[in-house]
Amino acid sequence: MYDNNSKKLSHLLRARFPYIYITTYEEDRVTKFIKSIALSKTEVKYPREVFTWTQSTGLKTDERIIPNTKSPARLIEYITKYENDSVFILYDFHVFFGGCKQCRPDTAVVRSLRDLIPTLKTGTTRKNIIFVSPELCIPDTLQKDIVLYDFPLPKMEEIKARLNKLISSNKAIDTENLNEEDKDKICKAALGLTMQEAENAFALAMVNDGKLSKNDIDIILGEKMQVIRKTGMLEYVLTDLGIEDIGGLDNLKKWLLKRNNSWSEKAKKYCIPAPKGVLVTGVPGCGKSLTAKAMSTIWQLPLLRLDLGKIFSGIVGSSEENMRKAISTVEAVAPAILWVDEIEKGLNGVSQANDSGVSSRIFGTFLTWMQEKTAPVFVIATANNIHQLPPELLRKGRFDEIFFVDLPTLQERKEIFKVHLTKRLKDDEVCAEVKPDDNLINKLAEMTEGFIGSEIEQVVISALCEAFFENRALRFSDFEKAVANTVPLSQTQKEQILAIREWANVRAVCASSKESIETYEQSDSLGKDISSARGGRRLDV
Ligand code: ADP
Repeated sequence: MYDNNSKKLSHLLRARFPYIYITTYEEDRVTKFIKSIALSKTEVKYPREVFTWTQSTGLKTDERIIPNTKSPARLIEYITKYENDSVFILYDFHVFFGGCKQCRPDTAVVRSLRDLIPTLKTGTTRKNIIFVSPELCIPDTLQKDIVLYDFPLPKMEEIKARLNKLISSNKAIDTENLNEEDKDKICKAALGLTMQEAENAFALAMVNDGKLSKNDIDIILGEKMQVIRKTGMLEYVLTDLGIEDIGGLDNLKKWLLKRNNSWSEKAKKYCIPAPKGVLVTGVPGCGKSLTAKAMSTIWQLPLLRLDLGKIFSGIVGSSEENMRKAISTVEAVAPAILWVDEIEKGLNGVSQANDSGVSSRIFGTFLTWMQEKTAPVFVIATANNIHQLPPELLRKGRFDEIFFVDLPTLQERKEIFKVHLTKRLKDDEVCAEVKPDDNLINKLAEMTEGFIGSEIEQVVISALCEAFFENRALRFSDFEKAVANTVPLSQTQKEQILAIREWANVRAVCASSKESIETYEQSDSLGKDISSARGGRRLDV
């Protein structure tokens, strides 16, 4: 059930790493896991006795409590003298390491742990110490002697086994309409939760109507959204936006469509490497976030948005721990899409050496994960200000492709108008004077040269508001007024747009299709410097 993870832990035990640190809330589950390895001859060759320790009970095994071991000093003394192969699981030791933010490490405890290292490493008996704590806190002086071990959230089979147990021990629950396929769907919805949280979600679904059926999936997903939101760094984004909601960006859309099902059995036959991710940069308000959301619908995968800013600021806990937690949650939900919105904002501090290297370390963790991840997680990073992106992020091998989203071309503006007009112009009375037809779309697209996607959407909304306030049908003049009242970003930030285009010319692929750019260049008259310098390489992906 634990496969690679048990191998990793058994290697650490056998290699006699003195201190292993596991950050988790799941004490029972992790203890069971450690026991399954430490007691197994096949896993560790020399099975070890397993002790657990808490400050309230002291040291104990399944059979006995060891008296006088509640204080850390007595505990360490006992471990030093103990003469059988053993593993000591110490809960909540972070409090002695300065766990709560203002505290300092207990120097006596830290010193005695350092004194214990030679015994653990080279003594005749094999002894390992594992710290299990919900918080990651390691004193500087022990940094080099403690290895971190990532205990994964429960996988599908584990959750299913627990669900089956729950059902069989709860005869009053009606599961008549629950087949194996539904059970799988329910368990899949619970991926990303701890076992306790999954159990709570199942219980909630059951008490609702005394039944468990596939109709409960939404309840479980709802619980999961809450739990994920509580972390403060990740948000489970629910969206129904699809490919038809994106006007233009044909090249980018084509690239994404081609990579759909990359984790399927069929893709394995073609030996296609799993896609890592894309970086979508460019002019703000032109559809980068929209693309991330639509991808989730196109690929039918859950979308988790990562707030890097919160991770780096450490608002919700230690930054490094936050990054690890976020990664392990996303991996547990996988296959999934991880959307790193405005990545440049989060990475702002990386180049500034004023936080004793914490930002660089977290950033390093993220990059290594991106490069080496084996879980089917596709990363879509979006960025407006590419000048703030650290060069390491753009190195080959991090992202499969870097796309540049420019001001929409004439053709693209037509498509964007079409999206927003069809979405909003539905009522016959409202559309008595103007119809959302090609004629209107062509005129509006011609009038809005240099407008970004969000400004186009705003033109449609403003025109409708005008008609609404005057309690009459929509008129073409409402659109004219809305266009006249807009000072487009391409005018107010012309210099910045030119600068990012220049950047993109050598580094990124144009998100628009070649065809659409060619028509743009033939037909648009806006300052030649803008149109002729359109950013991004023109490739057909
Ligand atoms: P950003 O590129 O800054 O992430 P968004 O994707 O958030 O911009 O765009 C803001 C809004 O503008 C979208 O929600 C959508 O309504 C509209 N919009 C922008 N670009 C497009 C587009 N290409 N097609 C349709 N709507 C668009």
